[in-house]
Amino acid sequence: MQAILYWLKERFRDAWLWPLNLVRDFPARSGRLVVTLFIGGQAVLRLPLFIWQAVRQQTVAAQSRQWARQAGGWLHLLLVQLFDLVGGPEICQFVMHLGMHTSPLTAAEYTAVQPIFGPNNLRYQDVRVAQGGILNLVFRYNGGLAFATWYTVHIPLVTNGGRNGRQNLPLLVHELTHLFQYHHVGSRYLGEAIYYLVTTQRNCYQYGGASGLKSCWQQGTMFRQFNREQQAQIIQDYFVKTQEGQDVSAYLPYLVQMQQRKL
Ligand SMILES: [Zn+2]
Repeated sequence: MQAILYWLKERFRDAWLWPLNLVRDFPARSGRLVVTLFIGGQAVLRLPLFIWQAVRQQTVAAQSRQWARQAGGWLHLLLVQLFDLVGGPEICQFVMHLGMHTSPLTAAEYTAVQPIFGPNNLRYQDVRVAQGGILNLVFRYNGGLAFATWYTVHIPLVTNGGRNGRQNLPLLVHELTHLFQYHHVGSRYLGEAIYYLVTTQRNCYQYGGASGLKSCWQQGTMFRQFNREQQAQIIQDYFVKTQEGQDVSAYLPYLVQMQQRKL
């Protein structure tokens, strides 16, 4: 009986988040959409000039491929930002959670992750860890790969090692980095993460370790220039190294950039 009441309470919470976020996220969501519309408008205005130049230089074929890629990226932004504006993330999470068990971060988890992401960069009380139910089926087909959608972290109940995946704090840090991305750039993080996951055949996590990061920093590479999976992996590895008392000097400048929301 108590389990049912808890489940109902969580579903009411999910439902309430839709109107709540429609209002409190409206400034951020509409702001991102306005920027995208502005960029699109600018591109349309400049298009005749670009076409004329390409015709003169006989580079129409090569250029049009690039234009198509840029237009595709722009369209993706437009769609996900409209999706965010109408509260698509809250609706999707409400429906998905119907078939799962969800719970908030524990006090111990919060204490472990809060110093990494900062006190005000995430709505920690809104984070939900989803396990069990239809997720058991999902993990059977994706090889037990944990994943994050909007404000939900999906973690296997039983991992290959036989433990509850929730005991894996580095994994939680990785997935919370995706929540952080969502909070600050919106649903585009999801399309971008999947794009790299597919186009690099899951090699998208590699960033060259501490030495690679050091040389990236020396060359002026910013945190935002890493792909979404690299970003999550960098923060995960930072967490592991601090726990093991290892040198994290290569990671610190990028951690700071993340905390400054430069995504
Ligand atoms: Zn990831």
